[in-house]
Amino acid sequence: MYISTRGGADGVSSAMAIKTGIASDGGLFVPDFTPKVAKEWLEGLVSMSYQERAFAVLRLFLTDYTDEELADCIKAAYNNKKFDAAEIAPLIKSKENYVLELWHGPTSAFKDMALQLLPQLLSTALVKTDEKAEIVILVATSGDTGKAALEGFKDVEQIQIVVFYPEQGVSEIQRLQMISQEGGNVSVIAIKGNFDDAQTGVKNIFNDSVFNDVLAQKGFQLSSANSINWGRLAPQIVYYFSAYADMVKGGHISQGAPVNFVVPTGNFGNILAGFYARTMGLPVNKLVCASNANNVLTDFLRTGIYDRNRTFHKTISPSMDILISSNLERLLYHITDGNTAQIAKWMNDLAMTGRYDIGSIYLAKIQEAFWADWAGDPTTLDTIQKVHKDSKYLLDPHSAVAYTAAKNYQAQTGDKTPSIIVSTASPFKFNTSVLAALDETVAQDKTEFAMLQTLSEVSGWMVPQGLAALENKKIRHKLVCEKGQMPEVVKDILKI
Ligand SMILES: *Cc1c(COP(=O)(O)O)cnc(C)c1O
Repeated sequence: MYISTRGGADGVSSAMAIKTGIASDGGLFVPDFTPKVAKEWLEGLVSMSYQERAFAVLRLFLTDYTDEELADCIKAAYNNKKFDAAEIAPLIKSKENYVLELWHGPTSAFKDMALQLLPQLLSTALVKTDEKAEIVILVATSGDTGKAALEGFKDVEQIQIVVFYPEQGVSEIQRLQMISQEGGNVSVIAIKGNFDDAQTGVKNIFNDSVFNDVLAQKGFQLSSANSINWGRLAPQIVYYFSAYADMVKGGHISQGAPVNFVVPTGNFGNILAGFYARTMGLPVNKLVCASNANNVLTDFLRTGIYDRNRTFHKTISPSMDILISSNLERLLYHITDGNTAQIAKWMNDLAMTGRYDIGSIYLAKIQEAFWADWAGDPTTLDTIQKVHKDSKYLLDPHSAVAYTAAKNYQAQTGDKTPSIIVSTASPFKFNTSVLAALDETVAQDKTEFAMLQTLSEVSGWMVPQGLAALENKKIRHKLVCEKGQMPEVVKDILKI
């Protein structure tokens, strides 16, 4: 069963949790217990394909889906029409570190790992729960979720999708990807504000019971494709197991030996999936949380004080430009052994004062699993340049933040455990910054597509299909709104 982190809603099946996205008391759905895996089960993953690993992991969590349903969902999501790497999530060795590439899906960012599967899981959930309403997916995006959700949900029956992105807060490629989106059930709107404004606006719509009643009367029900949806989290647990199995398969570690994962973090969804994997019994020593100049999580994981009262920075890793990391609430649930009253109080403090303090005992429990660091833009650019020079490997800015944190972690702790850098975006997606890192003059006066070409020459990699195709796509979405207008915009789109 899936229960709310705030204790004010009944437990539901995974299909219900995926369908509704967020619990009725404003909390997030968490599994009422985390399944544990045996040594033999882990060993069994080594010889499996990614799809088989996904099946093995997901059936432990999505217990109300039949094996056949799950297998069909997985087959539709992870295949060579959607992903340009046969391994789906390849593990690469780069000098002394390992890189888990999560950006071989249709939109060139790790969001595809979950958002190719979520629409399948949701469509199946609609059938399983005998849902007749039209589902309206509301998405707030810092750039990558929006496009990945649009691609995943386009033309899926019984579902409409509405994406809000910060007008000035995404890269040019990300913007082009979204405003050119095709599909009869998609809407894309720029808002005058930053990502937190977009996310708060979406959350407010979810929590507005009057608004939801109006929608229900017209036959609509809201749901979420943001990483607050359990259907986003569960697929992400898979690649932690898959990376580990590939470490064993490649002879880099022996079965049972520990690894670290270093994760570029924004909303805390990706790294939280790593925490679930660790809790299940995957031999993970430390999860290193890497942030950019919006380093609210670094401070939290070092001090136990979460304080969003600080300047918001626009950085070259925009998918991590976040001051309220929603998924942290799930970590708090597990760290406090399900003390929902305590969590409700912290979340209330956060809403009222922008701050909460978990105290030293809970902090120690968190630090047993996590280590944290951050890197500003100049350091990040430097890392991209150095890594390319040393090993000819090209990192995008988000992954370069993680690479920097991995170096710092190793230098400061002396820990020799093999570290896996979780790489979350293709460098092509952040072409301007990556080219600037390699050579300050080369990006000047170039079109987006000329830059992609240059990057292809520099890296020896092909321009990802989805990005190359943008050059000839028609612009379809031009609407811009104030952050206060979001509910009205949704009503207009649904014609109510
Ligand atoms: C979304 C995203 C992140 C942050 O992931 P969270 O799950 O929000 O912590 C990091 N890098 C890239 C490229 C992303 O798209």
